[in-house]
Parts: sequence; structure tokens; C-alpha cells
Amino acid sequence: MKNSIGVDIGGTKVAIGIVNETGLVKEQSIIPTDLSISPFDMISKINVEIKNIITQAGLKQEDITGIGIGAPGPLDSKNGMILCPPNLPTWKDIPIQKWVEDEFSIPVKLENDANAAALAEKWIGAGQKNDDFIYMTVSTGIGSGIISDGKLLHGRKGNAGDVGHIVVDPSFGQCTCGQYGCLEWIASGTAIAREGSKIMGEKLTTAEVFNLYDQNHTDIIPYMNRVFHVLGVACVTLINMFDTEKIVIGGGVSNSGETLFNPIRSYVQSYALNPDGRKTEIVPSQLKQSSGVVGAAALWMDNVL
Ligand SMILES: [Zn+2]
Repeated sequence: MKNSIGVDIGGTKVAIGIVNETGLVKEQSIIPTDLSISPFDMISKINVEIKNIITQAGLKQEDITGIGIGAPGPLDSKNGMILCPPNLPTWKDIPIQKWVEDEFSIPVKLENDANAAALAEKWIGAGQKNDDFIYMTVSTGIGSGIISDGKLLHGRKGNAGDVGHIVVDPSFGQCTCGQYGCLEWIASGTAIAREGSKIMGEKLTTAEVFNLYDQNHTDIIPYMNRVFHVLGVACVTLINMFDTEKIVIGGGVSNSGETLFNPIRSYVQSYALNPDGRKTEIVPSQLKQSSGVVGAAALWMDNVL
């Protein structure tokens, strides 16, 4: 059976797994992302861990079809470069594909992490039956991977689908990117914790802010309604632009369940432009934790798309 390796690089941890051709993670290892060492040294640690899990699985390098890396953007997937991701602040113009390839006799591919997660949903998750669907992650940030006409949409360098920085409400104030009213600035997990803390005058987590909303806390309700509203606006924008069949929402914030999904669905049912668009399914991710690893490994599986 075919095996490939998925590497999911995040701001706090790196998950590395061996995935077989049915999408099963056979061996997995998680190491912290150490931003106090150079990117080259951190990637060397990842390479050591890849070698370890190949050995632990009782495999050899020739048993592995390829290594897929999912990483935060902006990146240049065509040239295998990580460019300047905000949550890896010391990583500037890093030729990660080459630095991994140099250590192995296995080919390596790089993909934006949201795109990789979309591939995972296509392969074994909520998008298996869809040739047109969009995966949107609402987590530390907000991003998306777009499957259109049965293909993953890349754009010029692999950064297509950066829905976190579409403007949905300029009155909300200035995003870290400089624009006013970006989706991510209002509705990401980071934003919910920040704004909820500001409103309540104490340090709160995203989950605590959701709890206050569920308890009908009058100070939190107007802000959370704004969060649901702008997520609805973003979904309608995606539906109107891509004529998609389904939007799959993943990331930590999606764990809040129907509290989040119901208002988004009702906005889409009211405001998508065409009658079919109003019926677009809005569903939770079916992969949860391992989607980054599975999606990165999917880059080497020809049965995915
Ligand atoms: Zn922005």
C-alpha cells in the first residue's frame, strides 16, 4: 500500500504523520515550533522527526511516495518557499522544500495549510462527494481552501482563498494588515478572545466568550451577533463568487457548534444571490485535529481529486 508523509507546520507546533492511501494516519509525532532557534535549525528538527517516524513505522525511505508540507501563508508553493507568515515571524523567504529534499531521497511538495485541509476534506471528510466546495478555517486566523470544478484553486503562487482579509465591516477598525474591517480582525478566535476581554474588562478565552453568549450575557450579545453576521457575509461572498455547493467550516471556533452554524445558515438562506446559492450547505469539518497532516499527505495521493 502507498504511504506518504504529511507535515503540518503551525505557529506553536508541528505535526508529522505517515498516512496510507485510505487516509489513515499510521504514525504521528508532534513537536513544538521553536521560534527561538533559526528556521534552518527548526527544519532540521523536523527532518530528524520524519526519519524517526519512518523507522518507528517499520518502513524505509523507498516505501514513502512523497513528503507533503502544509504551512501558513503567504508562501510560494510553486517554488517551495515560505515567504513571511505572521505566526512564524522569524521565517522570511525560507526555501523549505529544498531544505527537506536535501535530507531525503523522497520528493517534497509545499502547500498553503488551508488548501491542504481542503484536500483532506475532499479525500476523507465532508467534501468527498463535492466537486465544488470551500473549506473555511476559523481559528487563530481565518483562511480558506477552494475546490472549484474538481480542482484546488491555487492562484499565482498558492495563496488563493485568503478570505480572512476580505473587508466585511470597515466601521470595526483597523486590521493588522492595514485595511479596515477585515473578517479575521472581527471574527477569528483571536478576535473573539480580544474583543470579549475588552467588553468584560477581564482576560477571557474564545470558549469563555462563547459561554457568556450562551448564557445570554447582555454585554456580549451585540458583539457576538456581529461575529455571526460577518461570517454570514463572508459565506455569501464566497457563494456568490464561486457558485459552490457546500462550505465546510473547521478550526477551533467551529467546535462551538450550532451556536455558530445556525446564524450563518440563516444569513446564507436569506442573502445568497441566486435561489440555489441560498440552499448551500454549511457544515462542520469532519476531520478535526489531523486535517493538516492528512491534507499535506494528500498532496501525494492521486486518488484525492
Ligand atoms: Zn486584514
